[in-house]
Amino acid sequence: MIKAVRGTRDILPPDTALWNHVETVVRDVFRAYNFQEIRTPIFESTELFARGVGEETDIVSKEMFTWEDRGRAESDKGNSLTLRPEATAGIVRAYIEHKLGDRGLNKLFCIGPMFRRERPQKGRYRQFYQIDAEVIGPASSGSDSPARDAEVLEMLATLLDRLGITGWTLELNSVGNSAERVKFNEALRVALEPLKDKLCGDCQRRAVANPLRVLDCKVPEDQPIIDTLPHISEFLEEDSQKHFAAVQEILKSVGIEFTINSRLVRGLDYYTRTAFEFTHGALGAQNAILGGGRYDGLSEALGGPAAPGIGFAIGEDRLIMTLAEKTPAESVLRKPDVYIAPMAAMNVAAARLARELRRHDLVVELGDENFRLKKSFEAATKAGATYILIVGENEVKADTFALKNLATGEQIQVPFSELAAKIQQGRIQPG
Ligand code: AMP
Repeated sequence: MIKAVRGTRDILPPDTALWNHVETVVRDVFRAYNFQEIRTPIFESTELFARGVGEETDIVSKEMFTWEDRGRAESDKGNSLTLRPEATAGIVRAYIEHKLGDRGLNKLFCIGPMFRRERPQKGRYRQFYQIDAEVIGPASSGSDSPARDAEVLEMLATLLDRLGITGWTLELNSVGNSAERVKFNEALRVALEPLKDKLCGDCQRRAVANPLRVLDCKVPEDQPIIDTLPHISEFLEEDSQKHFAAVQEILKSVGIEFTINSRLVRGLDYYTRTAFEFTHGALGAQNAILGGGRYDGLSEALGGPAAPGIGFAIGEDRLIMTLAEKTPAESVLRKPDVYIAPMAAMNVAAARLARELRRHDLVVELGDENFRLKKSFEAATKAGATYILIVGENEVKADTFALKNLATGEQIQVPFSELAAKIQQGRIQPG
């Protein structure tokens, strides 16, 4: 038997109903903040991620699915391509390529699969899904304002509330601007020099290549050493301090709780100033539901105009894991309102009825004239239908049908013209 590849999975009904429910709520909430949807390709030039995410990040150095293009056109051949490991780089590429800033398209979101070559475990897959949103634009659009950071964080808190997810923690930090980061990186390099031999192999490499990334290390034995390293907050100058203070002030005034985590640097190189993560206790070791931050220099790093921005990526798989505890998929699944059971030679009449009822926005499951009545009842019950509708020769002649409520056993005769309204009245609403 051929199975799904390790680290990938099928999302099956009824779980897909929960995924759709989440995406519907996401679209509703994002719309209230005037975000618009963008869909970027699932693969891009490798160079985009190398430049946009950072050569020395774990994502680029270890986790990308990369291959050489064997395309038919000479110009394609030999190009290095990569399945997207995250969405921001592709969105910023599209922003630059289509001059979206000139069109005032400053708030974009995207929902879709991402790919990373990680060791699969609970909550960590090689194909996973992200809900990603970005605010990006010329500084004149206010995209560098701390008000944007606070607005994005408030939107996330609203989204989690709307989904009924409680018990999350917002961890917040400022990672400074690029000049401050350079100084901090240098201070870390100096501090790590005498310590690095005691660290894990990855950190020994990072201590030289990109010391900031040592702070991402999850190896327990390394943590006491990491605790002794300098903090980014010591390197923030007045502008960055003010920016960070303004974000916090708005969050407090709108009642969003947060904790400052001065070790939070996030795994991507392009972050500047505000960096954040929402974590949830129910998730275990992989406890981050979402992460994000500001990336003021990214557009320029990709050859575009100056366009400060801030964004986030929600791990949809993990969001749904947290949600599924309280909201079973069945509770958002819309089951058939009616099961139509055609008696012998009644498929034609039943098809016409089904078509008519579906036009009234009813969910209709259609049986078959070859089924015995007992089998139809069993099928209707298995499908979770509210009603069963018997379509026999007499019913068609009289233009009146037997409609039976499967839960109560109550059966009534309903003229064709009243059928849709009757079924709608008894319809069980999901949720
Ligand atoms: P990142 O782009 O690494 O900040 O990831 C943003 C969010 O995506 C994380 O907080 C996770 O919820 C989710 N995520 C990242 N990598 C994976 C993965 N391999 N499997 C499932 N979810 C992931």
